[in-house]
Amino acid sequence: MSVLVVAEHVRGRIRDVTLEVISAAKELAGPVTVAVIAGDPSMFTGAVEVDGVDEIVAVKVEQEEFENDVYQHALEALVDERQPDVVLLGFTVNSMGYAPAVAAKLGLGFASDVFAVSRDGDSLVATRAFYGSKVHAEVEFPAGKPVLLLLRPTAWPAAEGPGSAGVTELELAPAASRARHTEFQEVPKGDVDIANADFLLSIGRGVGEQDSISMFEELAEKLGATLSVSRPLVDAGWMPSSRQVGQSGKTVKPKVYLALGISGAVQHLAGMKTSETIIAVNTDPEAAIFDVAHYGAVADLVDVAEELAKLV
Ligand SMILES: Cc1cc2nc3c(=O)[nH]c(=O)nc-3n(C[C@H](O)[C@H](O)[C@H](O)COP(=O)(O)OP(=O)(O)OC[C@H]3O[C@@H](n4cnc5c(N)ncnc54)[C@H](O)[C@@H]3O)c2cc1C
Repeated sequence: MSVLVVAEHVRGRIRDVTLEVISAAKELAGPVTVAVIAGDPSMFTGAVEVDGVDEIVAVKVEQEEFENDVYQHALEALVDERQPDVVLLGFTVNSMGYAPAVAAKLGLGFASDVFAVSRDGDSLVATRAFYGSKVHAEVEFPAGKPVLLLLRPTAWPAAEGPGSAGVTELELAPAASRARHTEFQEVPKGDVDIANADFLLSIGRGVGEQDSISMFEELAEKLGATLSVSRPLVDAGWMPSSRQVGQSGKTVKPKVYLALGISGAVQHLAGMKTSETIIAVNTDPEAAIFDVAHYGAVADLVDVAEELAKLV
């Protein structure tokens, strides 16, 4: 099964999800081509030249940063030229903007939010979640028709190890773009990107009231952790949405995820269950968070927070 991966980059850096998608591509055991669509593709070809990549296609476009129409035009040309069996992209805001349109226009099989892929004979099997992650289902794509899949970030480890793929260039006629990238808006000063934190102290409705949040802000600072929250704290207006973990918040994969007073609803788990080490504190021994936790304590979160504060 030949696989085409579309690399994603922002502000001059390849995004981690690209290397994760390459890992998934390797599982399909066919030739892996990585397409780099950029103003200067050579800035990124080195970063995707990892073990398991057979070829890198550099597609030079006028725009430096992502634009939907430009990527749509380029991917249509790539599929037309390379005729891959499978096209893989990250399930990201960028891809969602153009990949479904490519699939619809070219008549490709399609699934989003995929977190496992396998082969069953000549068929491709993609596993994805339905009904807000309450159900996991396998979607089978019979052989003979190309398939485009959007893969969930953090579901695969990043591909690594030196590669030796050659770089070929694909010339494209310039695409008309209905939208222009003008600037990046910075995260408000003083706020952080929880998706990049190594240690998240995450609090949920179990904290009880808004006034107790400052205690956890102080604890996070002492521990060298970043504070994140479950959705009810955002809905209540206690914390900004940039701190929310979950299906409608951010997907995180820190080294340590310490969850205090979070029940573990499927929508919350969807955003953190691939964290390297999950530690949960909850007064309810039946809380679903314990199903994904590596370590857990049935305890009052205030007691645990006070003890932790004494240790540092
Ligand atoms: C479409 C959709 C999208 C959603 N997206 C998200 C999302 O992105 N992120 C998200 O988080 N949720 C999301 N939700 C909401 C989700 O379904 C849950 O309602 C939410 O995650 C619950 O948050 P919680 O665990 O903090 O609160 P609760 O479910 O109320 O759990 C509170 C927990 O705290 C424990 N507790 C109480 N007191 C203490 C104490 N003193 N010490 C220790 N433990 C204590 C309780 O036993 C309980 O388990 C979404 C829902 C929908 C329908």
